[in-house]
Parts: sequence; C-alpha cells; structure tokens
Amino acid sequence: MAIAPKKNEMPTQAPEVRAHNFREVALGYSLEVAQAEAARCLNCRNRPCVAGCPVNIEIPDFIRQIRQGDFEGAYQTISRSSSLPAVCGRVCPQETQCEAQCTLRVKAKLDPVGIGRLERFVADWHNEHASDQPVPPAQNGHKVAVVGAGPSGLTCAGDLAKKGYRVSVFEALHTAGGVLVYGIPEFRLPKAIVAREVDTLRALGVDIQTNVIIGKTLTVDELFQMGYEAVFIGSGAGLPNFMGIPGEALKGVYSANEYLTRSNLMKAFRDDPATPIMKGGRVAVVGGGNVAMDAARTALRLGAEKVYIIYRRSMEELPARKEEVEHAQEEGIDFRLLCNPVAILGYQNPDNPRDPKNGCVTGIRSIRMELGEPDASGRRRPVPIAGSEFELPVDTVVMAIGTSPNPLIKNTTEGLEVNRRGGIVVTEEGLTSRERVYAGGDAVTGAATVISAMGAGKTAAKAIDEALTGTDK
Ligand SMILES: Cc1cc2nc3c(=O)[nH]c(=O)nc-3n(C[C@H](O)[C@H](O)[C@H](O)COP(=O)(O)OP(=O)(O)OC[C@H]3O[C@@H](n4cnc5c(N)ncnc54)[C@H](O)[C@@H]3O)c2cc1C
Ligand code: SF4
Repeated sequence: MAIAPKKNEMPTQAPEVRAHNFREVALGYSLEVAQAEAARCLNCRNRPCVAGCPVNIEIPDFIRQIRQGDFEGAYQTISRSSSLPAVCGRVCPQETQCEAQCTLRVKAKLDPVGIGRLERFVADWHNEHASDQPVPPAQNGHKVAVVGAGPSGLTCAGDLAKKGYRVSVFEALHTAGGVLVYGIPEFRLPKAIVAREVDTLRALGVDIQTNVIIGKTLTVDELFQMGYEAVFIGSGAGLPNFMGIPGEALKGVYSANEYLTRSNLMKAFRDDPATPIMKGGRVAVVGGGNVAMDAARTALRLGAEKVYIIYRRSMEELPARKEEVEHAQEEGIDFRLLCNPVAILGYQNPDNPRDPKNGCVTGIRSIRMELGEPDASGRRRPVPIAGSEFELPVDTVVMAIGTSPNPLIKNTTEGLEVNRRGGIVVTEEGLTSRERVYAGGDAVTGAATVISAMGAGKTAAKAIDEALTGTDK
C-alpha cells in the first residue's frame, strides 16, 4: 500500500509497511506528475539552480525536455555532467544545493521545483526504456589506475574511459560501488541501480578488479611499475570513529559502517546469511547524520522492537537530510535529542564467569545537554547539564559519529602528504604531493557527499588527461 503524496512529494510505501521490509521507500514520480512538476519551472534566465549543483547539471534544459516529453534528451543532458543520475536523483541533498537556490523558493516562497525527483524520474525512465550500452571509444594508448570503486573512483574512471584511456579500477571489497553498496541501504538506493551504473562503465571498457587492497595486495608504486601512467586515489573515509567512553568493547556495540556493511553488502537480514548481525531487541544509534538514520531504520527492518537516535544537539542542527529524518520519524524511531552517551553498560554474572550473557550490552547511560555559544562549525556547542544523567535499557548500540580516511595508502606510499585528519592533501586539480598521483572524494575531504565525490573524480580526470595528453606530452 502506498500513501498519497502532498505537494510535489513522491508517493512512498506506508510507514507501518516499509518499517518491516527492505524495499525502496520512495516510489518515484509518475509520468503525469513529473510533467506537471516540470511545468512549474520558470526557466530562469540567470539559472541559479545550476550554480547550486556541484557538477553544474543544466537543470532548466533537462526540465524543459521533460515538459516536451523528450525524456531521453533529458537523460543525455544530465549525463553530460553526472555519471550516476539514478543515484544522485535519490541521495543528493538537493534541499541544500540546487533546490535551495530555486527562484520559486527564494523569491516566491513556494516549494522549489522537485529537481532531484525529476532527475530520478529521467534516470529511471532511461533505465527502463533504453537498452543500448555505450560503445567504447577508440583507445588513446594511455593507461590509468584508479583506487576504489566508490562514486569518486567510478566517475574518474568513466570520464577517462570516454576519452579513450585504458582504465583499471582496483577495489578492496568484492563488489564495486563503495558506500553506495556497503553503506546506503537498499530501501534508499536499490543495489540493482548501482550495479547497472557499474555495468555501463564496464561496457565503456573500464576494467574493475575486486578484492585488491592497494597498500596490501599492491602498492601505488607497483601500479606505476605495471605501466600505469597516473593513479587516482578514491579510497573514501571508511575508518569509523568511536567516542572513547567506557563499554565500547562490549558485545553488541557496532560501528555504523560494520553494522550497515553486514546488512547491505553481506545481506545479514536474510534467513540464512553469510554473516551474523544482532537482530531484534532495543537498539540505540548514536549520531544525527544520514549514517545514523540509515543504521536506525535498518535496525527497525531487522526486527528491533524499539530504536533510539541519541544526538547531542537539537533537531535544528541535525545534519541528516530532512526527508530521511521525516521518514525515520514516520517509521517510529524515537529521537532523544540534546543527549550525549557517557557509558555503555554491560552484563557480568559474578557467580558464573562462563555465563554467555557476560560482556553483552544491557543499556546506555547518557547526559542531557543544552546549547551554548556557536563552536568552530558555526553550530551552537552542546554543553552537559550537571546531574542530568539517565539510562536507557538497550541490547545493541551503533556508533554513527563519523569516519576518517584509512591510513593504509598513506603508510605505504612514500611522500604522500595528508592533513591532521588523515585527508590526502591535493591541489585544486586533485594532484597530491606525489607526481601523477591524484586523489578526491572522502579520502581528501573526510565523509562528505556522493555528488562532491563525483565532482572531485571529474576534476581529477580532466587534470590527468591534461597531464598525459596535453602540456605534458
Ligand atoms: C551510511 C551512509 C549514508 C550516506 N548517505 C548519503 C546520502 O544520502 N547522500 C549523499 O550525498 N552522501 C551520503 N553518504 C556519503 C557518501 O556516500 C560518500 O561521501 C561517498 O560515497 C564518497 O565517495 P568516495 O568515492 O570518496 O568513497 P567511497 O564511497 O567510500 O568509496 C571508496 C571505495 O574505495 C575502496 N577502498 C578503500 N581503501 C581501499 C584500498 N586500500 N584499496 C582498494 N580499494 C579501497 C572502498 O572499499 C570503497 O569501495 C553516506 C555515507 C554513508 C556511510
Ligand atoms: S531556479 Fe527553479 S524555477 Fe528557475 S530554472 Fe532552476 S529549477 Fe526552474
């Protein structure tokens, strides 16, 4: 059963139904709704929405093509700037990017044009109707290696392949897609969509080698010895942060990355899974970003009877996408705002050291917070309220308080400079401190967005092309 949309929203599965399945929540615009939504666009001469898009998609043009019924044309317009339209239409934070700049919103105080939803409509239409895979262009004789098959690496690989480069992508996991396959759950981004985008790259001639860890299986220097003339590092920021509070080593405490990887990539939600995961019971997810929302909603779908989000600031500062927060609230996630965990509590049977419950999580102790002056991030600093500690009984705790770039590649690549957060230092063109080694995406910025990672992959592809076939001939 679907619930009717309001305004320019998409229909979704009803909350009480979707909370128990992993199918996609948002169901997409119908052709009629898409064209009606496209008709709201004013085709503004100054194109503020384009400036708000990190990869500058010609938004008014593709919307006009939708209005005219030229859906394939609209797809081609988007594809000139974005290599993953079906993904971006689903997960980009449009409300802070293109849609935030939309004239309807800024000047007329109306709902902005549903740009992301229209992008999704166009990409889905193309995937349903167009069967042709791209034809690989003639090769230009140059070879480039890409580390990591996430959005930054795949974009860099795709852009270079379209110019005739022989590109090999080396991916540590057994499946390509990066966070799109191991992090973002099926109910927000069906994995078949990511697989299709990856197939398109393969059809362009990109060679994707999985189960290869650069820094272990091969080093960056060995890639050059193998004849690659440039290397792009798009290895992401997959190293989870913890709070450093007592109890984080107890059984039942996960990083969000581990929890989501077990569920999304290893399909731990199945009846006969290849890997176990704690299902059911009461779950506390610590954090307020997209990752926290995904972990909380995954816990619900895995059968949890109660799921808390514990976040130290208020709803106003919650960094997750508004739509995801609304969906989580509709599904019954209990938001405990202005609270910060101080300890995770565990079971210990003093009479029986072999009791299987020993070392298992039994609860989480938090302290209430109030907001003080703004901190370096510009958000008001949460300050603990003395004596306000309280406990929630829980069986599982998922830490979703951020991730950092993994130091493996830095540690095995001499002369590769990183900043104090572990992000690889690059120029505007994406060049690192090592000659012909480029980097981009979360490996440079720390955890950010799909579209910014794609933008970085594009920038580096252009710089690599210039270095190998331009001034550096
Ligand atoms: C749960 C979750 C939800 C998110 N939701 C959103 C959202 O709604 N909207 C949004 O815009 N962004 C979202 N993000 C952030 C977004 O997914 C990332 O910013 C983006 O994927 C970064 O792309 P990337 O290519 O830099 O890295 P990744 O996607 O992390 O890809 C890096 C790849 O490199 C591989 N790798 C790492 N080390 C090595 C190595 N040594 N050798 C070989 N391969 C290696 C990894 O296995 C991985 O496949 C979310 C992130 C998470 C974790
Ligand atoms: S700003 Fe809004 S109304 Fe103007 S062209 Fe862009 S999408 Fe259309």
